[in-house]
Formats: sequence, structure tokens, C-alpha cells
Amino acid sequence: YGQNLIKGRAPVAIFRIIMKDPFLDIVKIPLVLIGETGLIQDANKAFCDLLFIARDAISGRSFNKIDCLKPIEKSINSAIMSGKPAVQRLGIDERSFEVSMFPFRKDDKYFITLCLYEITPFLEIEEQLRRRNRELMIINTLSGAFISSENTDEIFNELLEKVLLITDFTTGWIMLNGDKGFKLINHQGMSKLLIKEISEGKISEFCNNIAASNDPLYIFEEDELRKLPVINKEGLAILAAVPVKTGNKLKGIVFLASRGHRTFDFNLASILSLISGQLTLIVDKVELFEEARRLAITDSLTELFNSRYFYEALDKEIARAQRYNLVFSLAILDIDDFKTLNDTYGHQAGDEILRALARILKRESREPDIVARYGGEEFVIIFPNTPKEDALAVAKRILNGIERHTFLEDQGLNVRVTISAGIASYPGDSTIGKDLLYYSDMAMYMAKHSGKNQVVCYNKSYEKNIQET
Ligand code: GH3
Ligand code: MG
Ligand code: MG
Repeated sequence: YGQNLIKGRAPVAIFRIIMKDPFLDIVKIPLVLIGETGLIQDANKAFCDLLFIARDAISGRSFNKIDCLKPIEKSINSAIMSGKPAVQRLGIDERSFEVSMFPFRKDDKYFITLCLYEITPFLEIEEQLRRRNRELMIINTLSGAFISSENTDEIFNELLEKVLLITDFTTGWIMLNGDKGFKLINHQGMSKLLIKEISEGKISEFCNNIAASNDPLYIFEEDELRKLPVINKEGLAILAAVPVKTGNKLKGIVFLASRGHRTFDFNLASILSLISGQLTLIVDKVELFEEARRLAITDSLTELFNSRYFYEALDKEIARAQRYNLVFSLAILDIDDFKTLNDTYGHQAGDEILRALARILKRESREPDIVARYGGEEFVIIFPNTPKEDALAVAKRILNGIERHTFLEDQGLNVRVTISAGIASYPGDSTIGKDLLYYSDMAMYMAKHSGKNQVVCYNKSYEKNIQET
């Protein structure tokens, strides 16, 4: 039969001798045998059934005339040439196969057997696993932003960055829904003009519409974007708006956009919906976290900062002053004869006086000043960037405000309260927090000593005075 091949005769008979039909059909995996001229020698029933071709019509046909084998034509040829087995994936209709190619030689002739193992179910499982893996990756990536960030701004920056990475969008921004409506929190990949226009509230109405319609996800493709001039100018081809809700409240909207053409499909929708769910959880956590932090640093009676926060702030202020070569001042303020007030009007009234006094301290101090309740009826104020004379002026204004205030008026009383204060400054008096506190306390003691209702600035000679008295 070797001679037959050389003469170019149909090699069907040859194959019959090699493979023997009945045995071939016992194999349930689709099998085909191809000769070196590329002609199909034979195929089993499973192969013919798979391709809906009659067996007679297959034998003797050139394998590259069979459409569904076309995608692996090159691999088959190179396996024949090299004589090395190979594996290649092949899709036939909706099914997937792994084609194992086994080249072999018989009597100086080259052949190749193809076995088509169906792997459709495995691929489905693989796809499911991949999807699940991607979901876990998204959840992990997004919660990473929460864990690794120190404050809310940082969390939102990280979140936006990660969401863009996951979704493969080029541009994005987050708008949070606050008391004054939607506010731009952060952005990436946007023109200065768009940032400016959004900050000026030019898409507020658009955000409000999204909020009002209450859908879980919005996709605006080129046609709809043309109706939004602010965004259209930016040359964006697709815009996704992902609302972030907790309970019934819309906390914010994450906008993701692409300059290039991008189709919106089920896959993208499922990613965005997962992201929306995760962002909701994270925003919830951020709020809880912020509330816990607020409670941890707030004095519950006066709503001023508590001493814990004060110590932190003092350390930070020293570090800042050191780094930038700044000055700052520290005041301790103590209510005069508070014990008498308590004894006269009762403890409850005393608490009310503390609350009212805290309000005056806040009102008379300046925006960057840190006002804290240090102890029972003692307060501290850090005056950042403030030399002693300026802190003295603010303290005098505070004393004045307190002196003029009528306390417990709503109880039909007319109570007057005064305080005494001491001031020390960084770096003139000391560069150490503990010492600054000690010196301002000492100055406050001097104020009490000199008749109360006054502010005294620390002076080195006081130490001697106090030791003497
Ligand atoms: P001085 O002018 O020397 O500061 O006299 P003083 O009476 O203010 O000082 P003293 O330290 O003798 O008394 C402080 C009082 O403040 C005693 C304490 O009962 C009262 N006090 C501390 N914390 C609170 C509080 O939270 N509420 C009320 N109502 N009173 C408090
Ligand atoms: Mg006291
Ligand atoms: Mg006191």
C-alpha cells in the first residue's frame, strides 16, 4: 500500500488495514486519522456524529476542507512536520474540545490521530470560578482601600483609583450627597474645565434626576451623552453612574466614563452592581468609623474636644511647628470659684454653666484654634501659628465674653462667672508639650494668685515665686 500512496491513489484502504473500523467505533471519543498528504484516512462514528457528516463522505477528504478543523489547521500541520504531540482547544458550535494530536510513523509514512475530548462542562466551571475569583478580587481590592486609608478623603481616593482599575474605565469621579446637595469629592482623568463645571454644580440637576429615579445603575451611551453638554464637551463615549445607597438614603454617586468606544454588556453590569454593593458597605463603615472617632475625641457634656484629643493635637502641633519653624501658644483656663457656684445652684446648674461657657470659648476663639475640656472645670486652647501676645489678646477677649455673659438666665437666674487663664508658648517657653502644659498651668496659678479673672503669660521668674509662696 505504500506504493499506492506514492501513486496518489485513495488511501482509504490503507487506513482500514491500520485501524480496523469496528475497533475505532468502540472508542466513544471523536477520533480522526489524517495521513501526511492531509487526507483523512478514517474517522470513528463519534467524530462523524459530531460533525454531522456521513462516514463515507469523510474518508479521503482533505482535512482542511472540513470547516470546523480550520482553526487548528496550523497546529495539525506543525505536529505532522515535527512529529511531536500537541494539544489545542477547539470550539465546535456551542461546545469546546481539547484536541490531542498524536503524530506517528508507519512504514515511512506519516500519520496523525486527533482525539477530541469534550471540555465544555469544565470550561463552564472554570468560567464560574474565574467570575467568583474576580468578585473576590473586587471585594478584596475595595475593602483594602478602607483598611489602608487613614481618613475619609483618602478612602474615597483609593476607592476611585481601584474601581477604575477593576472596570478599566479611563475617567471617574465621586459625588457625595451632603446637606448642600451633591459635592465633587475626587476625580481622575478629567479636564480642568469639567472639574470646574462639576464643582460649580453644573451636573447637580443630573445627579438629582438619578437620585429621584431610584434605579440601581445608569448607563449613558453616546446618544444620551449628547444631551448633556457639560459631559459631551469632554468627549466621553460612555458614562456609568453607580448610586451608593445605604438604606433608603442616596449617599453618593460614582461616575465612571470612557473616552474610547466601549460597549456595555452583562459582564460590565454585574461588575458595576458588585462594586455598588461593596461601596455601600464601605460608606456605611466609614460613617460608623467616623462617628466612633468623633465620640472618642469629644467631651460628652460640652461637645468640645476631650483631653485625649488635646494631647494628640498638642503632639501634632509640636511636630508641625518643629518642621516648619512655627510658633504656637497654649492656654489653660480654669473657672473661678466653681465650687461655690456648684454649692449655690446645684450640680446640674454647674453642668449648664460648663456647657454655656464651652459655647463662649468656641465663639470667641478662632477657626484653627483647638478648644478642649481638659478636666472638670478646666479648659485648654491650642493657638496654632500664634505668638504669645496674639494668644493673650484672644484669651482676654474670651475672658471678657464670659464676664459679660449672664449664666442660667433661662432658669430665671442672673449668674456671673469669671475664669483665670495662663499662657505659655512654643518655642520661647519650651519645646516640650509636658513642659508647656506645666508652664501655662503655673501662669494660670499666678492669675488665681493675683486676684482671678485675668490672663497671665508664663514668665521664667514665676517658678521662683511659686516655690517661695
Ligand atoms: P478656683 O477659683 O481656685 O479654681 O476654685 P474652684 O472652686 O473653681 O476650684 P476647685 O478645684 O476647688 O473646685 C472645682 C470644682 O469643679 C469642684 C468640682 O465639683 C467641680 N466640677 C468639676 N467637674 C464638674 C462637672 O462636670 N460638673 C459640675 N457641675 N461641677 C464640676
Ligand atoms: Mg480646677
Ligand atoms: Mg476652678
